[in-house]
Amino acid sequence: MKSKIIIVLFLVLTNLTFAQTYDGLQKLGNISQNVYFSENAKERAVKISTDVAKAETYFQKQFNVKPSYTLLVLSPTDWKKYAHPQAIYGIPHYLPDGRLVVASENNDFWKRNAAPVDKLPQELAEKMKATYTDKNGEINLTNAFDLLAIHELGHAFQSAAKMLGQRNWLNELLCNILLHTYLADNDPKQLPYITVFTKTAVSSFPTQRLKFTKLEDFEANYNEIAKNFPDNYGWYQCRFHVMAGDIYDAGGASSMKKIWSMLLSQKQKLNDEELLKLLNTDAALQKAIANWNQ
Ligand SMILES: [Zn+2]
Repeated sequence: MKSKIIIVLFLVLTNLTFAQTYDGLQKLGNISQNVYFSENAKERAVKISTDVAKAETYFQKQFNVKPSYTLLVLSPTDWKKYAHPQAIYGIPHYLPDGRLVVASENNDFWKRNAAPVDKLPQELAEKMKATYTDKNGEINLTNAFDLLAIHELGHAFQSAAKMLGQRNWLNELLCNILLHTYLADNDPKQLPYITVFTKTAVSSFPTQRLKFTKLEDFEANYNEIAKNFPDNYGWYQCRFHVMAGDIYDAGGASSMKKIWSMLLSQKQKLNDEELLKLLNTDAALQKAIANWNQ
C-alpha cells in the first residue's frame, strides 16, 4: 500500500513539474505531437502543427527514424520565457532539449525579410504581391515563416538520427533541402511561399546591409551572425534555400536521400578537403558550392 502511495505521489509531482515547465501556455489536445501555444494562438498552433505532422510522417518514411520535439507557438511575451534567450522574436529555432520554437504573430523580423516591393524590378514585385498580400493589402510573410517550422523539424531529425554535424552551413542547407523536397513532392501549392521571398532576397537584398557573405564567414561566425546580425542570417538562409531548390530540381527526393545517407555515414569530422571530396559526389551540390562566391 505504501509503495502505491509513493507511486501516486510521484506521478502527481511529475505532472506538476511538467505543468510548470510551460506555465501560461495551453496544450493542444487530441494529437500525438506535443504542442503548446500562447493565449489566442490556438488557430495558429493547429495550422503549424498540422503541416509539421504531415512533414514528420513523410521524413519518417524516408529516413526511418523518429524525432523528439515539443512545438511551441509563442507570443512575444511567452517568447521571452521559453525561446532561446538570444533569439529575436520571429526567428524559428530548434533547441537541443527538443523545443521547436516559432512565433505566433507577424513581427519586425519577418517584415524586414520582405524586400520593399516599390524598390524591386516589376516582375519580382508582382510575384511578391501575388504570393504574400494579406487581407489588409500588405506584404505578409506569415505563411512562409510558418513553413520554416518544417526546416526546424529537419534539425530534430538530424538529432534523432545522431547525424554528426560536419559544418553549420551544411546542417542548415540539409534542413532546407528537406523542407523544399517535402513541399515540392507533397504540398506544391505551398512551395511558392518559400521560394518567392528567398529568391527575391537573394537577388535584391541591399548588400550594404550584409556584414558577412561567404560560406567560410558563416562557419567562422555562426553564433555571432545568428545572435547579432539576424538579417544577415536570414540572407544566408535564403541563399541556402535557393541552393536547396536547385538541388531538388536536379535530382528530386533521391538527391535528398542520397545527401542524407552520405552525411549520416560519416562518423568523424572531416577536414575541408575530405568534406569537399565527399560533397562533390553530388553534381548539383558541387555546382552550388562552387557558385557560392560568384
Ligand atoms: Zn536551421
